[in-house]
Amino acid sequence: MSPPDPRGLGPGAVLGILGGGQLARMLALAAADLGVRVHIFAPDADSPAYEVAARHTIGAYEDEAALASFADAVDVVTYEFENVPAATAAFLAARTPLHPGARALAVTQDRLTEKRFVADLGLAVAPFESVDSLADLEKAVAKLGRPAVLKTRRFGYDGKGQVKIADGTDLAQAWDEIGHFPAILEGFVTFSREVSVVAARAADGSFAAFDVCENEHRDHILALTQVPARIGAAAADAAIEAARRIGEALGYVGVFAVEFFLVEGEGGEQVVVNEIAPRVHNSGHWTSEGAQTSQFHQHVRAVCGFPLGATARRGRVTMQNLIGDQANDWRAILAEPGTHLHLYGKREARPGRKMGHVTRVLPDRD
Ligand code: AMP
Repeated sequence: MSPPDPRGLGPGAVLGILGGGQLARMLALAAADLGVRVHIFAPDADSPAYEVAARHTIGAYEDEAALASFADAVDVVTYEFENVPAATAAFLAARTPLHPGARALAVTQDRLTEKRFVADLGLAVAPFESVDSLADLEKAVAKLGRPAVLKTRRFGYDGKGQVKIADGTDLAQAWDEIGHFPAILEGFVTFSREVSVVAARAADGSFAAFDVCENEHRDHILALTQVPARIGAAAADAAIEAARRIGEALGYVGVFAVEFFLVEGEGGEQVVVNEIAPRVHNSGHWTSEGAQTSQFHQHVRAVCGFPLGATARRGRVTMQNLIGDQANDWRAILAEPGTHLHLYGKREARPGRKMGHVTRVLPDRD
């Protein structure tokens, strides 16, 4: 740990990160820029972040002895994934500052809790019903109609733990498919685009959002992010204001993302909240070259209590994910002038696996 400084942490501080994937790797690289040393805690023998972090501990999230030594060795803890077990978060929070805090995790780990939280703020969400049994599912489908989307409340990502309930879908089969886990049924939102806001909130309440970005998914995995998004100024302002209110209500410290559906209605465009991610987010990767501060530097700043950085965009930006074999094109990508290649150091390019990404920044049109 670094020596105490009455103003809080400074360069030389040790940032603990739970999880060792590509998000932790990019956080560790940003932390190094700021003179902050990173200590990763993750269960895997090999992880993308280990090779760029000052230290790593391989341990189970339930291993209290390992967690206690980790907490002793760091000044502040953050995480790169929202499924940190609540007991792990509570154990660490009792020993060292944890940002974002336990409330952000509790709300965002469970789709039902999250939807209620967002709806209670008066923000638009898809209509939803809680589903704990096949009988609940039948009632929920009768109420919300078809199509609808059945999602497990917990542990869903990149479209996993989801079944679309279309006209002919057999409900018993859909219930089997999601493994009879507690779930929610969401009414289907007919959207024109998916957009997201990546933003940061600091402990003093200051808030800084990056420009709204537009996201295109393929096979439920983010394929392409474009900024600026094709969205009107009023809807963009509404999305950023929604993110600000969510951050405020969670007492959030760090970077987070709010994903929205953009809906074209009679009264114009409306943003409907889909999901909150309490961490740096794939749709914010464009900020590394496309904004004055990257989301990774911004998160390190926020959780260490440093001033937040400027979020202005540097041009028209695209971020393309390299999924599976697409990363094999690295040589051609590097040969293309003005592209920025990021590879995550994963040894095996399995289908659907995020191997890296490419950003391209072009001058803004007048
Ligand atoms: P999620 O894991 O909730 O982000 O959902 C993954 C993707 O499924 C979204 O990015 C949408 O493309 C689609 N999707 C999820 N929920 C809905 C919904 N209620 N209506 C329409 N499409 C949805």
